[in-house]
Amino acid sequence: MKRPHLVVTVCFLVAMALVSGVGLRQLYQMTRYDLHSRQRDLEVRAVGVDALISAERRRLLFLRDYAERILDSPSQQRAGLQNPKAQAALRDSGALQWTAPGAMDGPLVFGTNAQGLAGIEGFHRDAATLPADIVLARAISPLLAISQHADAVQSTVAYISANGLYVLSPERPDAHAPDLLRRFSTMPYYRLHVTGQNRGRDIVWTPIYTESKKSEAIATLSAPVYANGQFRGAVVMDVAPSRLLSLQLATSNLTDDEAPAEFGLLNSNGDLVYFVNGEITAQRPARFDPHLLDVARASATAWMKRGKGYAVRSGRYLLFQHVGETHWMLLTDTDDSELTLAAARRVFNSPLIVAWLAIAVLLVGTLRIVKHIFGQYVEASTRLERLARSDPLTGLANRRRFQEAFDETLERAAREGGEAATPAVAMLMLDIDYFKRVNDRFGHAAGDRVLVIFAEILRNNLRSAEMPARVGGEEFAALLPGADLATAAGVAERIRRAVEAHAADAAHGAGAPGEAVNPDAIAFTVSIGVAASPADCPAHYEALMQVADRRLYAAKEGGRNRVVAEDSRSIDAARA
Ligand code: GH3
Ligand code: MG
Ligand code: MG
Repeated sequence: MKRPHLVVTVCFLVAMALVSGVGLRQLYQMTRYDLHSRQRDLEVRAVGVDALISAERRRLLFLRDYAERILDSPSQQRAGLQNPKAQAALRDSGALQWTAPGAMDGPLVFGTNAQGLAGIEGFHRDAATLPADIVLARAISPLLAISQHADAVQSTVAYISANGLYVLSPERPDAHAPDLLRRFSTMPYYRLHVTGQNRGRDIVWTPIYTESKKSEAIATLSAPVYANGQFRGAVVMDVAPSRLLSLQLATSNLTDDEAPAEFGLLNSNGDLVYFVNGEITAQRPARFDPHLLDVARASATAWMKRGKGYAVRSGRYLLFQHVGETHWMLLTDTDDSELTLAAARRVFNSPLIVAWLAIAVLLVGTLRIVKHIFGQYVEASTRLERLARSDPLTGLANRRRFQEAFDETLERAAREGGEAATPAVAMLMLDIDYFKRVNDRFGHAAGDRVLVIFAEILRNNLRSAEMPARVGGEEFAALLPGADLATAAGVAERIRRAVEAHAADAAHGAGAPGEAVNPDAIAFTVSIGVAASPADCPAHYEALMQVADRRLYAAKEGGRNRVVAEDSRSIDAARA
């Protein structure tokens, strides 16, 4: 394995990535889970809302059935008309505004005459049905009062007759009958039944945002009253006391996060009201995305068929839930950051996070330790390698490294010069003169110091490519790639002079006789043999070494402190 620490690092990073990936995936699944739990929350609320609305529907249907039974029953009408109060009402009904007491102390019946109804759409005086209508209004009056919620002060229950009379609970004694009837004719809860829009004669839901209702009710529930196939009026009731409905939507969230309790209620006509912490408002809370609300309005019918679900746009969700059998849909809103936060909260509350964090810490810790161990191992091995290739005393290359460098130089020259070219390379062999004497006079340690000084001189006079090396006890060598014999001899001479110069300095700095000798002040000289290829022999390590060695010997023979770059044999050859 070439770079084990790299492999280990990569493996650990992959493991970390996997652990992180699993963690993030878990978080993502949690956010999905959270979205579903919000949907369930909405569903539960819708059931509550539906229960409230169903109760209202039952009350309204009871009133409608009661009204139709009276209009269908001649005997009940006869009995009702025998009452003197009904007789009086019939007598008074020609007036622009008239009243009659309700049965059993119920709220007053109000009416107007044909003149009062003039120009009011949806109403017209019918003398034939008037007695029955008066009897019905008086009879239903106490039932309206009973139907009214005790805790909803402003909530209203009413019977409005197309014959121009009405009874309200609570009654509005100061209202002018024609004015109120004119108002009824414009309100959807009455108009829808008159204009034939409600063919199925169903109960109709209409939102009210009128000022008189403030935010006390969100909608009106109404049903038409028919007798013998003829429209006779409508029973009307405010939707469940809004406070009850609000309560249902204000209760703290069922899910365990802190998102504000904000809901929308949308009907099939696209009308929307909002509940913000239990308060009803027509104003869109900021968190609801207007674009998604437009989508909701446009697809209200389709969504009601689907029952529940959500729409999503750039990280925002609008969740919807059809409320029972009604034409209403409950809406709520959330977004990705809210879901992620809720999911993260859940994750951090679970024991899973401990395991996950433990794995992460373990991985990081182990990685650090392994990297540290590998670092030490790599450092030690490079140190060993350096030691195996260099001389510990002088720091120069050793013989092994020198030979390696020689081979590398030849290979490089062959690569660069091509096959045909004979690589030029020169070699120096250097030996310190009379080194035994240095040891003998100044001691082995001083001798060592001289070797270090000589190595320094070599380094200063050669490039590192020239690979100054210590190839024996006090024998040194150098390699001169691309150099011919003359160039190499020049380099050798430069070195010899440098040693001589050091010797001169040394003589200068030598202390007085008897003082402990300073090894730096020991003077010495060097003899150098030079060989070059292709001038002397082929570019071969052993061959060059042999020639250089021979010339070194010649230098010693010739008196030392000199460079020899040719020998008698080659001189003879040259002469020949
Ligand atoms: P010359 O080369 O001029 O003929 O004479 P020399 O005295 O230098 O003779 P030679 O080269 O044969 O001597 C080598 C001596 O170098 C032998 C040994 O005592 C000494 N020597 C070899 N290696 C070391 C070393 O690592 N440290 C020290 N202090 N001396 C060493
Ligand atoms: Mg020597
Ligand atoms: Mg020697």
